[in-house]
Amino acid sequence: MDKIRELIDKLNKWSYEYYTLDAPTVSDAEYDKVYDELLALEKESGVVMPDSPTKRVGGEVLKSFSTYKHRARLYSLDKCKTQEELSKFLEKSDAQEYTVEYKYDGLTINLTYEDGLLARATTRGDGEVGEDVTNQVLTINSVPLRIKDRGVYEIQGEAIMRLSVLEKYNETAQERLKNARNAVAGAIRNLDPRETKKRAPEVVCYNVGYSSDIKFSSQTEMHEFLIKNGFKAGYYFNLAKSKEEVIKGIDEIENSRQNLDFLIDGAVVKVNSIKVQDQLGYTEKFPRWAMAYKFKAEEMTTVVEGVAWQVSRTGKLNPLALLTPVDIGGVTVKKATLNNYSEIKRKDIKINSRVFVRRSNDVIPEILGVAEHSENSIDIERPTVCPACGAPTRFDDVFIYCTNDKTCVSRTVSELEHFCSKDCMDIEGLSEKTLEALYNDLGVRKIHEIYSLKEEDLYKLDGFKDKKVKNLLDAIEKSKKCELWRFIHALGIPGIGKKASKQLVDVYETLDELRGASVEDLVKIEDFGEITANNVVNYFINPEKREDLEKLLEVGFDFSKEKVEGGTFSGYVVVLTGSLKNYKRSLAQSLIEERGGVVADSVSKRVNLVVAGEDAGSKLQKAEKLGIKIISEEEFESML
Ligand code: NAD
Repeated sequence: MDKIRELIDKLNKWSYEYYTLDAPTVSDAEYDKVYDELLALEKESGVVMPDSPTKRVGGEVLKSFSTYKHRARLYSLDKCKTQEELSKFLEKSDAQEYTVEYKYDGLTINLTYEDGLLARATTRGDGEVGEDVTNQVLTINSVPLRIKDRGVYEIQGEAIMRLSVLEKYNETAQERLKNARNAVAGAIRNLDPRETKKRAPEVVCYNVGYSSDIKFSSQTEMHEFLIKNGFKAGYYFNLAKSKEEVIKGIDEIENSRQNLDFLIDGAVVKVNSIKVQDQLGYTEKFPRWAMAYKFKAEEMTTVVEGVAWQVSRTGKLNPLALLTPVDIGGVTVKKATLNNYSEIKRKDIKINSRVFVRRSNDVIPEILGVAEHSENSIDIERPTVCPACGAPTRFDDVFIYCTNDKTCVSRTVSELEHFCSKDCMDIEGLSEKTLEALYNDLGVRKIHEIYSLKEEDLYKLDGFKDKKVKNLLDAIEKSKKCELWRFIHALGIPGIGKKASKQLVDVYETLDELRGASVEDLVKIEDFGEITANNVVNYFINPEKREDLEKLLEVGFDFSKEKVEGGTFSGYVVVLTGSLKNYKRSLAQSLIEERGGVVADSVSKRVNLVVAGEDAGSKLQKAEKLGIKIISEEEFESML
């Protein structure tokens, strides 16, 4: 019993912070874990206390807003995490048709229309009574003020904040917003509607909760009603006629998750027929005709144990937070990027504080903000000397730099590492550790020295035996034949990453042509500003860089492309734009190259074919302007 009480108190505290204050101190996954523990204990003991969160929807309403009793009650959703649990739901509900939608992670909104006009907007509150946020919602353009259908309607939806809008907001905000869900909740439950407008939320609608006039027969019909009346109705809405189709929909949603500009935390599966929905009914908390399929968590909280300062090839000291290991969606995370010193200060991150960490796909885990400071929290000091070489540092209000550009080991090793990395010369076997050994034991300082390494030198290194020595020398030799963009990227010109290197090669076919380019020429390339253009020109005229480059070129690189004669795409320089339904970018590129074509990143006069997928934007417009031949995905397919 004590345990049940303890869990309820804990969950109610977290719910208060989450729903009422819009300032959670734990992640959803941590909340859900304790919630599931409580649910299991209640089931086992048969005791459900009156204030248990398993009996209630949402949290307290804020006193500062006037309240509104919803005509139709708003519910939460039952949740599952596995296909087995989902199968159980499908078997139990036993319907012919289901709808599959995004599960938006925002704030529930209930919109009341009377006689064709928006009369009120409220939050879900405890499901029966919500807060009146009409003035705030009036600032949201995606909410229609007038609809075609007369009568009384209550439309349910979710207010969301786009991730790009959040990022922009945070660039200038006095107080950073940690995550889009709390940001939107704080925007709507804000007494000042100007703040709501500033955070530019959207409302996506998915349900008609109450209708005085129309008797809907299905979710699909409601969806059509919403569209007809000008609502932003779900970005994803699919009708599934079998279990396989439900799973396909969920997979599709999960795969697109990373590319969305808003948060979703799962998919919602609903019985389509309202008649079947009515037969299934509701529990105290959720409908029995719907199920939320929750995806793996992307956010957790953990403690910052320390900070490591890594010296980059440009001398920048990059802070890396060392974390108490935490499982995020099945991956143990021990480190997270902190970007720079001013960000540490802006986010108020301290050692021994608990922080929100986000990890999605391949992206390096990132610290979103502080969950809670502790008594032992201490400030992160700004290093005054380089941790690698001891030279004094320089601070430009954002970044910290090592001032030693000649003999700092970390800096040189980072430079060599960049040259050898996968997206540059791709020399297998030259890891940071090996490069450090080359630096310390064999005195390698310059990139060209990698190419003069001899067998007998490598045998001197720890752990280097016949096979390893041979493999490394082969890999170095192999790298001499490479694509020109890789070599340009590998040089480490400031601001010239993978994309920019490819753009340069689209315009300049040889290194000599590029070396002769002027700032005026370079700024003509898309996204190249004066600074980037100057970086390129300055790199090639800097005497020291020039000398290094000459020595490097003496190695004898072969940048020539193997021509596929007579291929369907030979003679074509192709740009791919928009999204192709059936081909990933990388696949389309290799298919073109295998057939003799060249794929360019940006549209220029050299380009003579553009493949335009869905939602193609500025590249398509530019191609039209230049009169370049444009083909659709279907035409591309038939060329293949
Ligand atoms: P929920 O938010 O997980 O699911 C129900 C809600 O989903 C509905 O109210 C609706 O607004 C929304 N929704 C989004 N897309 C929808 C769609 N297409 N169709 C129908 N509804 C859709 O459940 P809840 O009861 O509102 O909140 C409980 C969850 O909140 C917990 O599981 C937890 O993750 C989180 N929470 C976190 C903390 C914390 O401290 N971090 C505290 C309390 C609750």
